[in-house]
Amino acid sequence: MLIGAHVSVQGGLHQSPIRAARYGCECFQIFSRNQMRWTSPSLSEEKIHLFRKAWMDNGRLPVLIHDIYLVNLSSPDEARRSKSCLAVVEELHRAEALGIRWVAIHPGSHLGTGEAAGLSFCSDSLSRILKKTAGCQAGILIETTTGQGHDLGHRLEHLAFLLTRVNNPERLAVCADTCHMFAAGYDLKSKKGAEVLWREFDSLIGLAHLKAFHINDSIRERGSRVDRHTFIGEGQIGGAAFRRLLRDERFTKLPGIMEIPRSENEFVEIIPRIKKLRGAPASRRMQPIGGARRLSK
Ligand SMILES: [Zn+2]
Ligand SMILES: [Zn+2]
Repeated sequence: MLIGAHVSVQGGLHQSPIRAARYGCECFQIFSRNQMRWTSPSLSEEKIHLFRKAWMDNGRLPVLIHDIYLVNLSSPDEARRSKSCLAVVEELHRAEALGIRWVAIHPGSHLGTGEAAGLSFCSDSLSRILKKTAGCQAGILIETTTGQGHDLGHRLEHLAFLLTRVNNPERLAVCADTCHMFAAGYDLKSKKGAEVLWREFDSLIGLAHLKAFHINDSIRERGSRVDRHTFIGEGQIGGAAFRRLLRDERFTKLPGIMEIPRSENEFVEIIPRIKKLRGAPASRRMQPIGGARRLSK
């Protein structure tokens, strides 16, 4: 897995690739706008150019956008759902302009109307958004959640339902948040539990539809449904489980984002430590000296 973090856009979007490179990230994630507000000024040509240039000058790292927190695609209230759809459409246009492939979104809350109704609203919203942005390359990653309150997305079956209903694999895939899945009850800690989980993931959703990870450890115990992130090895999932996950060859090319707000100095120290826990990327570990692998292609 590629190791990275959610980085600040303080000082402008173009500061984020510079920050990510300074921390030693191999990938990163940003908010493209204030995550607590419905509307933001649209991106000027200059801002887009500055971001693209900084991104190219700083290692061209895989990057994700995390959508704003107000969106609820599963709301039974039509007005709220429409507003949410518009916000996601806008976010996809921003991603497209910036050259960013994926926007991570939570499926939302059914607010008491039940899982079936909520998932149906959610799949309608997703279809509507993808239709309105047809022709865009930027797509949506639906994120696994803890299932706090009436939130959807804490069962793999929920995500499988959405992907099947919407049926647009180029533009709708999944982001797995380790803290959320653990808090939702999935056993990522034990070797056996993790094997069962990924087998289940593969049969319900298909590992090919998994495009990114949020690699957060969980402060709270398994099944708590409580969303409290901490750094890898400092929580209930633990370093040994993450070592296996980060080294898993099925996930070699996927971005793994740590979402823990900390100071710049801490990131400079933590990112290399997590890279060490993983070791060299699997492809490099396996490559024999002299490039024999390339010849034997
Ligand atoms: Zn999230
Ligand atoms: Zn979280």
